Amino acid sequence: MARVALVTGGTRGIGEAISVMLKKNGYRVAAVYAGNDDRAKACADKNGVSVFKWDVADYDQCMKGIAEVAKALGPVDVLVNNAGITRDATLKKQSRKQWDEVLDTNLGGVFNMCKAVWDSMLDRNFGRIVNIGSINGQAGQYGQVNYAAAKSGIHGFTKALAQEGAAKGITVNAIAPGYIDTDMVQAVPAPVLEKIVARIPVGRLGKADEIARGVQFLVADDAGFITGSTLSINGGQHMY
Ligand code: NDP
Repeated sequence: MARVALVTGGTRGIGEAISVMLKKNGYRVAAVYAGNDDRAKACADKNGVSVFKWDVADYDQCMKGIAEVAKALGPVDVLVNNAGITRDATLKKQSRKQWDEVLDTNLGGVFNMCKAVWDSMLDRNFGRIVNIGSINGQAGQYGQVNYAAAKSGIHGFTKALAQEGAAKGITVNAIAPGYIDTDMVQAVPAPVLEKIVARIPVGRLGKADEIARGVQFLVADDAGFITGSTLSINGGQHMY
């Protein structure tokens, strides 16, 4: 029986590339999205993945959603926590609402989704969890105290949960992407983006597929000795 993979934010950007790669590799894929029905429908039609709509920041919706996925496809073997948002502003201008939205989605969502699948993974002695962090959680970024705090939190969360899963067949790893060409990055003003690209040794933005390759590697059945690690995929930005 094919393994079931769930990708949050799996209907566009990096998440869509992950959904597609897992589907191509034989997984039954559930892609979760928040509100963009058109993109979700296009993703389902084009890629043949099942799409589910709920807010990962909402604990009850996550519990209910996972039960629906289990009913439709089977229990989740692979969880990719990819859903994320930005609400950029300097601390001086950042509102408590901007802070809460980013923390609740980018970090709270990871807690909610892991809680929703954890017992079932323990019962089955198998699980693969990959959390999508960010280079900006490792290095910080101007105007992103909320985003950097949430993504940095993901890296600590990953190492802690990896310890709880290690003897139970469950691996928990993180990927820290550098700048990848998606809607999120295209929302950055062009002059700022030019400066960002100038600092990437490979000389270009990354492609969503290049993150998906990392996920594919980490979730494989024979990747059971890789846990608690962070894979940085950033075009060489850590070389300086
Ligand atoms: P996009 O903005 O292109 O896509 C975000 C996806 O997440 C969409 O499918 C969106 O659904 C979904 N989503 C957002 N909020 C929620 C929510 N509350 N509940 C459920 N789904 C939600 O993002 P990217 O592909 O650029 O980024 C993917 C991940 O990678 C994020 O965690 C991001 O922080 C991280 N990352 C991205 C980098 C980049 O350069 N792009 C760099 C480093 C990290 P909908 O379509 O319905 O809105």
